[in-house]
Amino acid sequence: MEEIARISGFLGCGLLLLDEERKVCHANARAGEILDISPVNLFGMPLHAIDAMFMDLQGKPISEKDSPLHRTLSQRERLVEAEFTLARKNAPPFRISLNTSLVFHDDGRIKGLVVDFTRCCRSEDRLRQFIGAMDEIVFEFDAEGRYLNVWSETEELLMAPGSELIGRRVEEIVPKELADTIYSAFRQVKATGKPKIFEYSLEVRGGVHWFWARIALVPSHKEGEPTFSFLARDITERKKLGQAVRKSERRFRGLFENAAIGIAFAAPDGRCLEANQCLCDMLGYSEEELREIPFAAYSHPEDIDADMEQFDRLLRGEINTYSMEKRLFRKDGQEIWVHLTISLQRDEEGNPLYTIGIAENITRRKHIEVEKERLLGELEAIFVSAGDGIILYDEKGMILRLNDAAKEILGYSDDLVKASLAERYLQWSPRRPDGTMLPLEESAMFRVFQGEAIKGAIAHVRRPDGEKIWISFSASPVFDSSGRQTGAVSILTDVTNLQELKNRLEDYLHMLAHDLRSPLTVISGYAEVLGEMLRESPERELLESTRAIINAADHMHSMMEDLAELGRLESGQTTLHYDVVHLHEFIEDFLKRQKKRSKDAERVRAAIPPDLPHVRIGKNHLERIIENLVSNALKYSAPDREVEIRADREDGRVCLAVKDYGQGIAPQDLALIFERFYRTTSARSSAGGTGMGLYITKKFLESYSGSIRVESTIDQGSTFTICIPEAEPSM
Ligand code: ADP
Repeated sequence: MEEIARISGFLGCGLLLLDEERKVCHANARAGEILDISPVNLFGMPLHAIDAMFMDLQGKPISEKDSPLHRTLSQRERLVEAEFTLARKNAPPFRISLNTSLVFHDDGRIKGLVVDFTRCCRSEDRLRQFIGAMDEIVFEFDAEGRYLNVWSETEELLMAPGSELIGRRVEEIVPKELADTIYSAFRQVKATGKPKIFEYSLEVRGGVHWFWARIALVPSHKEGEPTFSFLARDITERKKLGQAVRKSERRFRGLFENAAIGIAFAAPDGRCLEANQCLCDMLGYSEEELREIPFAAYSHPEDIDADMEQFDRLLRGEINTYSMEKRLFRKDGQEIWVHLTISLQRDEEGNPLYTIGIAENITRRKHIEVEKERLLGELEAIFVSAGDGIILYDEKGMILRLNDAAKEILGYSDDLVKASLAERYLQWSPRRPDGTMLPLEESAMFRVFQGEAIKGAIAHVRRPDGEKIWISFSASPVFDSSGRQTGAVSILTDVTNLQELKNRLEDYLHMLAHDLRSPLTVISGYAEVLGEMLRESPERELLESTRAIINAADHMHSMMEDLAELGRLESGQTTLHYDVVHLHEFIEDFLKRQKKRSKDAERVRAAIPPDLPHVRIGKNHLERIIENLVSNALKYSAPDREVEIRADREDGRVCLAVKDYGQGIAPQDLALIFERFYRTTSARSSAGGTGMGLYITKKFLESYSGSIRVESTIDQGSTFTICIPEAEPSM
């Protein structure tokens, strides 16, 4: 011990010698320095006072039995490079590395204790603590890829505890592929001298982790043998987040690019940053062009103020978004309408970042709206200024609107306008021809609400002031796009004056026909008598004159008949009698009667199949119809040409055709010959007639739900075909 004490002055470490009494018997100068106690004061210090200065590595006191000097003595154990924290009275603590050894007497008793200690390298210690506190993993590799140092305390990310890695080669620890990458990075770093950064994934404890790595060269003391620093950071979370962001961004991109709606991002100053294809197509500009020109350049000047006002509010944060319909100009100058929605994206501090504009092309809809407004304007003008009354009803028949003319014609008070259809109908009290009230269910108005259109119905109605008027009434149901009836519209014309004129005319006609018939009968009666008297007379001229009187009287008579019939027809006084007629027999009898009256009837050939179904029509009226057609056929064809009558079935009706080979009818006359008093030019100049026959024929047929049609070729002849409903089999 004495020798040790002698050389202790030359040692770089602190040295304490304790004697048999466990007290300091020697301390070198370095020990005084390290312990911050002068060697003189150390002399005689007991063992437990020295032990009390050593704390564990976390700086906490150590129990007596674990304290280093006590442990050495009690367990007779040497401590080699045991590390402790040295807590000094007036100076900061630091780590020391401690060695203890016992000195024995020859008989084996403890003679003393040698304690030497050095201060641990402070910076390395600190560095370890520092790196340990970081999330990063730091390795040091030698040029052969061996782990030299593991500066990390995040053991869960190391493939093995740090101490086990030291001295092993990287390919023993990580998969070959990653080891290859690391080796190639070493080579690259060595060759270029520049750090290499890369990312890699590694399965750690059953989960894949992503790492960011930086390999750099560490200058070596020894020439040509560098080492490498390897810094790795776990970026798994960031990676996952990145993937999610990329995925959502891809989704957003797809939406942006393919949207059928125009989308643009713009800087708060209105400059376009990005525009999708749809917007480019809408405006006719490329995305680059849109970036260059300000928004105002393709905005309609009249819409800019309203837009800017809203935009300012958006910037001020008063609103989050706004929408408006505005006009834009395409590159080709064409004006389009868009429905624009603008919203503002702000950063975390609330500063405006960019605006998002969504534009839908509504030009077509706008044009339709404008056109609709124009049409509505026109309709309104017609509605207001029409001389005829116009009434709009809802689906229940309540009046929605009526124009002044309608109010005036019907004499409606405001209360009556609001009344129900039944109440208004009661007010009208329309009558049947026999004077009885026509029930609402049978009225034309009611049928309109069953979906039927009514054209020109004439009604005799009573106004609220008691006056009775005649109105012509047309009405149509109104349907919505799904085909549901939503109401009706009617047009009324006051035809009281016309109707009165017509009534008077009919009275005249009736009177004329009736009152002229008697003198005419007298004239033709006396002319017949005169003819009989002159039959044997040599005065042939007198006889001829008598014949002419008779013919003229006959013609006049048939005119009277026609006029009377017309009067009856038009005043609704014709009464219909239904008979079941067997056409074959009927025509046979008819021809017999005709042949008796006129030789001309010999020209008629009838071919009516006897097995044809019976028809349902009044016999007297059918006689008038066929007589009319046959007499026309005979009248308008040459005396040597035949007239044919045929009949056949056609769609549940029996059709009878009267065909002649006469002069025919010009196409322009065909449509008119069924009109009242119409006669063709050639007929007017030749054969006598009234122009009423076909009109009356048609009216009769229509009364019996029949019809008439004609086909004719000039100089080849005409065929008049009438069709009459078949009688029910039981009839
Ligand atoms: P009308 O008493 O003049 O015969 P209708 O009403 O019977 O009057 O016929 C109207 C017109 O139709 C006739 O004036 C005639 O011009 C034309 N018409 C009718 N039937 C024939 C026919 N079979 N052939 C040529 N023209 C005809």
